[in-house]
Amino acid sequence: MKRLFYLIIGLSLLISGCSTQKDIVFQTSTIDALLAGVYDGDISCRHLVRHGDFGIGTFDGLDGEMVLLDGIVYQIRADGKVYVPCPSVKTPFATACFFKPEKTLFIDRITDYEGIERLIDRTAPNQNLFCAIRITGHFKSMRTRSVPGQKKPYPPLKEVTSNQPEFFMNNVQGTIVGFRCPPYVKGVNVAGYHLHFISSDRNRGGHILSFEISEGKCELEVLNHFFLRLPEDVKDFAGTDLSKDRSKELKEVEKPK
Ligand code: ZN
Repeated sequence: MKRLFYLIIGLSLLISGCSTQKDIVFQTSTIDALLAGVYDGDISCRHLVRHGDFGIGTFDGLDGEMVLLDGIVYQIRADGKVYVPCPSVKTPFATACFFKPEKTLFIDRITDYEGIERLIDRTAPNQNLFCAIRITGHFKSMRTRSVPGQKKPYPPLKEVTSNQPEFFMNNVQGTIVGFRCPPYVKGVNVAGYHLHFISSDRNRGGHILSFEISEGKCELEVLNHFFLRLPEDVKDFAGTDLSKDRSKELKEVEKPK
């Protein structure tokens, strides 16, 4: 009888443990490693979707921007087109979660990037937790970029993005996928907002530089678990100096004027 009791306790602990799995932000590698040019993929897309159905990142050799939406990995390459990569394609940097929206905001007037940031900050004021963001709607304008695949020796990210292809869309229907990360993840992930876009027809997208939404909904989930996976077998990761402060570089790379 006692044994059965412990078995039930054990099982219920396991089940509750499984349910908290859903509040986890999963990340592979660090933003500073990516800034330094560590572009060799570490985990496959097949592996990544085991940790989330929603997220953003990039691909092996820095071959485009990633949008993970409803469990499907999309690759927006430097030609501006959207591909669905093979599950074996690897990623050197990605952030994902199982998205369960907790709060929904409706947008019915033209709002830009900064306006959306203010709206989210008011609705999810705890900046010290992670916030997953999904915004679906009609965008009056959308400016994105992608990055071209690189060959070894890899240049630093700042050099790649100085010649990045940009894409301008007007009156486009689509979804923004991204995160607001706490300030203390500096060096590990992008502190603050990091958003990617994919159009409803799955033809266009990229890393967002600016946008104006005219109507839609913004769904949020606040997450308080963070799981960081580090590349064990990537040679460049082992040999890269990650003691430097790269926050200035990151600013130039993420949101150039
Ligand atoms: Zn990005």
